[in-house]
Amino acid sequence: MAARKPLIAGNWKMYGRSAALGEIPALWAQVGGVAGAIDALICPPAPYIAAARQAAAATGVQIGAQDCSPAADDSARTGEVNAAMLADVGARYVIVGHSERRTLHAESNDLVRHKAEAALAAGLTPIVCVGETLAEREAGRVAEVVGAQVRESTPADARIVVAYEPVWAIGGASTPTIPEIEEVHHLIRETLAERLAGEANGVRILYGGSVGPKNAAEIFAAMGVDGALVGRASLKAADFAAIILSHPAAK
Ligand code: PEP
Repeated sequence: MAARKPLIAGNWKMYGRSAALGEIPALWAQVGGVAGAIDALICPPAPYIAAARQAAAATGVQIGAQDCSPAADDSARTGEVNAAMLADVGARYVIVGHSERRTLHAESNDLVRHKAEAALAAGLTPIVCVGETLAEREAGRVAEVVGAQVRESTPADARIVVAYEPVWAIGGASTPTIPEIEEVHHLIRETLAERLAGEANGVRILYGGSVGPKNAAEIFAAMGVDGALVGRASLKAADFAAIILSHPAAK
């Protein structure tokens, strides 16, 4: 089986204005040399996707979105954006089921799976987020919760990316230990294999939650970690470049 190409994705959440798009060429100036070995992705807020694509035009940085409608076709859904529209303005990936959307918008596993299916239908790669809360971890329910999220939120299709993002590690100061990360990544791949058999080996599984320039190298060295989904530390080119350059594939 061909090695999985690492993917390091930045989630800008609801931060920044047009001026922030200058971070994209600035990032490329620092990481362009490793471009063939690692996929670098920025997911800006939806209004900036088209301009981000333009800012990235002379670079190898790919552009993605942070959410999409579960409805594949154009329809009367005020305020929603479908995956075909995101593809039309230059997105290649879309994050679905981020814990902030699961929590703030009560998104269910079923809804997340429908969004991922709509993304695939439009030719986008869905990055399906899963992860336990602190209470669930403390109750010893990580395998049960994450296993169910993977089974119910992912389509039976290997053209996806899964991001393991423990909810308690996002936007915080702490991360799971390396053995804990490895254990959950293994669980996710085994769960994918229940439906995808050998094709599950091709699915990239990212770690997300407080990744920064200081801990990225250690996390990238963990078994089964194919890259990262990065929030805060993706907003500034210097920090995000330091993360990308700390991946073993960049050496
Ligand atoms: C995220 O929002 O996906 C995330 C991982 O955030 P942070 O890196 O800031 O913890």
